[in-house]
Amino acid sequence: MARSALVLATRNPHKLFELRRLLVCKRIELEPLAAEIVLPPEDGDTYADNALVKARAAAGATGRAAIADDSGIEVQTLGGAPGVRSARYAGPQAGDGENLAKLVREAPAGSPLRYVCAIAYVDPQIREEQLFFGECRGRLAQECRGDRGFGYDPAFLPDEEQRGRTMAELPDAEKDAISHRGHAARALARWLIG
Ligand code: IMP
Repeated sequence: MARSALVLATRNPHKLFELRRLLVCKRIELEPLAAEIVLPPEDGDTYADNALVKARAAAGATGRAAIADDSGIEVQTLGGAPGVRSARYAGPQAGDGENLAKLVREAPAGSPLRYVCAIAYVDPQIREEQLFFGECRGRLAQECRGDRGFGYDPAFLPDEEQRGRTMAELPDAEKDAISHRGHAARALARWLIG
């Protein structure tokens, strides 16, 4: 029997795009969240808390299995900031460009950093909840480069990248192979389909 699509609890088009790309090869389809469903505020202390709150809201509103991604960047020289507050680092209404500019202003080039991703899976029919995690370590670039990806990618130099390219300069398949979201999505797929 064909598996029905999972609802993705996000309003971030980049996450929908990346997660669809990561899961389609495992035959896991994602459905965007209907516009009328309201997601709760992401004010938890951990990525797992925030991902669970979003997935539960989507599962509760639709009666269908849902997933949610909560992610962020942690910079060692900033004591792990912005972390779970990455989407609002430069203020509650700030966009990706403002958040990136603030990070680059505040942290010295070369600072060790990491991306972290938690994916929550919630199936309301059988009351199942699962969490999956991924991380990607790197350093802060000297200057922002590249126009792929989103968010902090132009300033993120992955440790696993040998040619000095930022995350925003990597083709999709190369980002997916090493990214925090790639690791978490593959863990979800392994659990879901074996
Ligand atoms: P949230 O999970 O909705 O709280 O948002 C996570 C925030 O972390 C995003 O808005 C980005 O600023 C940042 N972020 C998460 N994943 C990535 C990524 O793959 N590339 C660049 N920035 C990311």
